[in-house]
Amino acid sequence: MKLPSHKRFIADIESGEAKELKPQSRFRFACQCCGECCRRDVDILINPYDVFRLTRHLKITTTEFLSQYATEYLGPDSHMPLVVLKHTQAGHCVFLKGNRCSIWRDRPSVCRLYPLGKFVGSDGKLRFYLNPLPRFCRGRKKKKYRTLTQWLRSSGFWEYHHNKEWYEHLLMDLTRGELLKKLPKQVLWLIAKVLYDFDDALPRFEKALGQKIPDDWKGKSKFMDEVVRQFVDLLKRPETQGDSNSQENSRS
Ligand code: SF4
Ligand code: SF4
Repeated sequence: MKLPSHKRFIADIESGEAKELKPQSRFRFACQCCGECCRRDVDILINPYDVFRLTRHLKITTTEFLSQYATEYLGPDSHMPLVVLKHTQAGHCVFLKGNRCSIWRDRPSVCRLYPLGKFVGSDGKLRFYLNPLPRFCRGRKKKKYRTLTQWLRSSGFWEYHHNKEWYEHLLMDLTRGELLKKLPKQVLWLIAKVLYDFDDALPRFEKALGQKIPDDWKGKSKFMDEVVRQFVDLLKRPETQGDSNSQENSRS
């Protein structure tokens, strides 16, 4: 699914191209399942809950999932550890089979919300916008109308939202004061490991935290949040920061 980048989305909001929807706002859209938006070198950003759902769907570990189906990188501006789904050589999403999504029941959050986008303002309020549809999308072919409330309910948006709210708060805290930009790269990759390759990373922290990793997502995500926050708190202490900087310098 070709989605506007975050910057494009913000520009569309500012220019009024993306239209804000209220709960009872109606919009015209009915997917024709042509698969066009899943081609065109689409970049689908995924979050830890997406990884949890997809690995359970595919019955593989997070390590196997990341190596076969995803690419990890550090955001060039934010330094945030990010993960996108891989493309085939033809530029199709790795999960597109024919014109259909092969993991539809567990498709990532951004695919679920499309053609809408969401934005959290400085007041902390969640707002939804209807993105301008690209020319190739036939979603307006039929005169089918839904309200925002209906769309969010039928797409399963709220379940995904509630299961990844902690992660969005964590990212907000990590980017506050440009904290991520101050951390050495090896620390950022360690954070990525905890957040995305959690099947492999979390057991390593069980002993240090004196807790067993819960099997359910709620418990597991609480554990991940705790590990990253404790880790960053440790690095924020002036004497530890000095140590990590000197370690980084000695490797360069
Ligand atoms: S995950 Fe499914 S819906 Fe999303 S881009 Fe890939 S094929 Fe399309
Ligand atoms: S109709 Fe639009 S949203 Fe649906 S698959 Fe085609 S391009 Fe994607």
